[in-house]
Amino acid sequence: AKDLGKGRYRVFDSGMHDRAVNFLQLETNLRRALERGEFKVNYQPIVDLQEGGIVGFEALLRWHHPERGHISPAEFIPAAEETGLIVPIGEWVLRQSCSHLRNWQCQYDHAKNLTVSVNISVKQFAQIDLLNRIDDILKDSGLNGKFLKLEITESTIVGNYEVAKSILEQLKNRNIQLSIDDFGTGYSSLSHLHRLPVDILKIDRSFVDPIDEDNDEREIVQAIVTLAHSLNMNVIAEGVETAVHVEQLRNLGCEYGQGYYFSKPLTAEAATDLLARKHHW
Ligand code: C2E
Ligand code: CA
Ligand code: CA
Ligand code: CA
Repeated sequence: AKDLGKGRYRVFDSGMHDRAVNFLQLETNLRRALERGEFKVNYQPIVDLQEGGIVGFEALLRWHHPERGHISPAEFIPAAEETGLIVPIGEWVLRQSCSHLRNWQCQYDHAKNLTVSVNISVKQFAQIDLLNRIDDILKDSGLNGKFLKLEITESTIVGNYEVAKSILEQLKNRNIQLSIDDFGTGYSSLSHLHRLPVDILKIDRSFVDPIDEDNDEREIVQAIVTLAHSLNMNVIAEGVETAVHVEQLRNLGCEYGQGYYFSKPLTAEAATDLLARKHHW
């Protein structure tokens, strides 16, 4: 920071400069990461809260930088989004996820109805040829569209309702399932929800975490579950970390759970092991 005299420092300017430099480096690095194969997709099990079996996986992107090591998606996804690199990166994630799932389905009888959930960013969703890309990926992987779930957030729909609705309907025509991610944290698109072909609401973990104590969040989770069911949707709770969470969520009528209580996101190899052992909770 620059000393401007009388105890005033120009911390802000140099900070902004550092951030701009960091951002440019991150863009260069992200581009290179895709070319050099530094990305991996991890898979976090989604569990049926009644039966305790795996119903599918959420695909979560991982980046191992050769010098900096593991870099969190919270750091690089926003940069990938801002630079537009999320489009080719996201397409790569879709391709990996569909082909991994297809392998598991072919390899294990008890895996033939598993699904894979893939996060779709706002920019990716706005891409002109998203549907063609998805068709190609399904064709190349041999996966039936009904086993693919796309996770979008409320921000994808807000301000873009008619276009979003039309794309969602075309995805639905391919039997692809649609989830609203981080439900309850975004701007409310509640008034439109019943007119969108959405199958699943994912309750954000900020609502799930406090439900093991007696408090208002339990009412919020209950309200989301009731809303979902009245619209013929299912509910996945994110951030399930304890047995008490599981018990409470079951009592509240939530169908599925995902979180460290069951499993952290796994490498494709570890997910294969889990399936080979027919793991149950
Ligand atoms: P998300 O879609 O809400 O994913 C769930 C995040 O919660 C993941 O973080 C997951 O590792 C973490 N998580 C799962 N269970 C628990 C738990 O029990 N406790 C806690 N505290 N956390 C849990 P992750 O992998 O760091 O990803 C962060 C975000 O980055 C994701 O949030 C998603 O928005 C974004 N992201 C990750 N992969 C992709 C991708 O391929 N494409 C796009 N567009 N976004 C992605
Ligand atoms: Ca997600
Ligand atoms: Ca989420
Ligand atoms: Ca979340």
